[in-house]
Amino acid sequence: MPGGIGGYKIPGIRPEGHAIEFLREIDMPPIPPIDPFSICAKCDIQIALEPLESAEALLLRMGSSAFIILNSNSRYRSRDAFSVAHELGHYYLPGHGKEKYYCTFENIFRFHSSQKNEQEANSFATSF
Ligand SMILES: [Zn+2]
Repeated sequence: MPGGIGGYKIPGIRPEGHAIEFLREIDMPPIPPIDPFSICAKCDIQIALEPLESAEALLLRMGSSAFIILNSNSRYRSRDAFSVAHELGHYYLPGHGKEKYYCTFENIFRFHSSQKNEQEANSFATSF
């Protein structure tokens, strides 16, 4: 559901706090390790592997549906879970309402990203 389940947001809390709130809303205990793939299944977010030019992963919102596309050419399959968690950050966090997030390897795995939204999605993802 774009904009978060129920549209309920707590202003002023950090991305890590939003991650805990997100888990509470979907009835998953916030006890690590949390599998981002099972979160997607629970939220009806479809995950697909596609060859992407320069992105590691992307989030697409189409109407009431959301999709996470992972780059099938990635050499870093073991990092897919973190990429999915990062895209879940864009899916859920306040201020991340764009229809499309096209995230490069640097956006997801370099924590000094100068883009605030990318940093927030990473902080969200580290909570899993
Ligand atoms: Zn991103």
